[in-house]
Amino acid sequence: MKSIDPALNELIREYPEHNAAETAAIVEKTYQAGLLWRETGFDYRAGLFRKMASVLRSEKEQLSRLMTREMGKIIRESNAEIEKCAMACDYYAGHAEGMLKDEIVDSDARKSMVVFQPLGVILAVMPWNFPFWQVFRFAVPGMMAGNVAVMKHASNVPGCALAIEELFIKAGFPDNVFRTLMIPSSMVEAVINDPKVAAVTLTGSGPAGSSVASSAAKQIKKAVLELGGSDAFIVLEDADLEKAVPVAVTARMINQGQSCIAAKRFIVSGSVVEEFTSMLKKAVSELQLGDPLEPSTQVGPLARPYLVADIERQVIESIKAGAILICGGKRPERPGCYYLPTILGNVKKGMAVYHEETFGPVFSIIPVRSEEEAISVANDSEFGLGGSVWTKDIERGERVARKVESGAVFVNGLMKSDPRLPFGGIKKSGFGRELASYGIREFVNIKTIWIG
Ligand code: NAP
Repeated sequence: MKSIDPALNELIREYPEHNAAETAAIVEKTYQAGLLWRETGFDYRAGLFRKMASVLRSEKEQLSRLMTREMGKIIRESNAEIEKCAMACDYYAGHAEGMLKDEIVDSDARKSMVVFQPLGVILAVMPWNFPFWQVFRFAVPGMMAGNVAVMKHASNVPGCALAIEELFIKAGFPDNVFRTLMIPSSMVEAVINDPKVAAVTLTGSGPAGSSVASSAAKQIKKAVLELGGSDAFIVLEDADLEKAVPVAVTARMINQGQSCIAAKRFIVSGSVVEEFTSMLKKAVSELQLGDPLEPSTQVGPLARPYLVADIERQVIESIKAGAILICGGKRPERPGCYYLPTILGNVKKGMAVYHEETFGPVFSIIPVRSEEEAISVANDSEFGLGGSVWTKDIERGERVARKVESGAVFVNGLMKSDPRLPFGGIKKSGFGRELASYGIREFVNIKTIWIG
């Protein structure tokens, strides 16, 4: 596996892979470690995750640098990602026990109750775009519930994958409760088929999700899928544009636009579309593109060359189909995987950027005539992950939010994940939930005990 710096297209380091026998041996060791781990108490596990939070904070600088060099995230966002991982550790350390405490139920029994027990070894197949956060988001609740984990990370972030495994050792966790598998995606099915693996969670693209869920279904194993999104950012005619525009920039440009919950379709009421577009253009033109390790940089490179080619194709095809190029629309003159922040106006049904997930810095503005049309365009997508609505009328905002088909809608705010709130999608954005009490219950046996 290779680490390649996308800011320079230069090889950083190569890493050896695990073969089939080594992979099976790691799964076996993790399974054995899980037999003891599941018997430990919440206090013990919480203590370890609190220690993990402090290790993350003390190593933030090195970890952030590693992440930025491997996948191009600007350094400020890398720092914030490590902080968020630490916050999730602290949150579940404090709340897991309460979320999984026995529930006494009134029935015909002398006593009946529901208890929540771990499933065992969970396989996590993870993406490169938030190389630490995606892993912690699954691992912290899953392991606080008493599960153990093997993780196959995206093949372009092997340094992050090994650093995460190392963090568990540094924080004092027992050996083998969390292991990194250095394997290509072609070996994932064999791991799912291993009888010692109980369940699988994948965060990534639709095709990867479909393949992993099919393998899990053949083995009758539980799967959670966190897939792509094409979130709507609905701007109604009574929106406060002074507030909406800066959030629109953050919502689209976070991680250079490579986020499942980035705002991708800007559905704007016709009466304010001109003003919104000109304010957006001004804000976007002020963004500073450069070396992602420089603290002042606001736009770094995309993570891989094929992502630049994909976004370039989507923009060219959409312009040919009638979209108006307002700014950007090309690569800057410098080495690395850069693409200029781009605004496309007059986006309509039938265009690539209307239907496909745009995984890069492209704002697609779709003008609409009414609230009803805004909702109908928002729902005219195969995805259903997140979204936001902008209006000064809070009741109207809630009404529209209820009608948008997605796993979350934020009214007058930046769509983001938060350990306290459930996260996940419907339609082709996947199934199952992460975070909050819903996430911690995905990989447990919800067991009824009836006593006569
Ligand atoms: P990806 O190509 O699907 O890769 C994700 C992971 O799946 C990687 O570890 C990859 O390994 C593995 N993989 C790929 N094909 C596979 C297969 N056929 N069988 C088993 N494993 C397979 O996705 P990505 O490009 O890394 O990430 C971008 C996508 O993830 C976007 O669509 C984004 O929206 C989505 N995403 C969703 C969420 C969410 O929470 N809903 C969060 C972040 C990202 P290799 O690298 O070795 O191919």
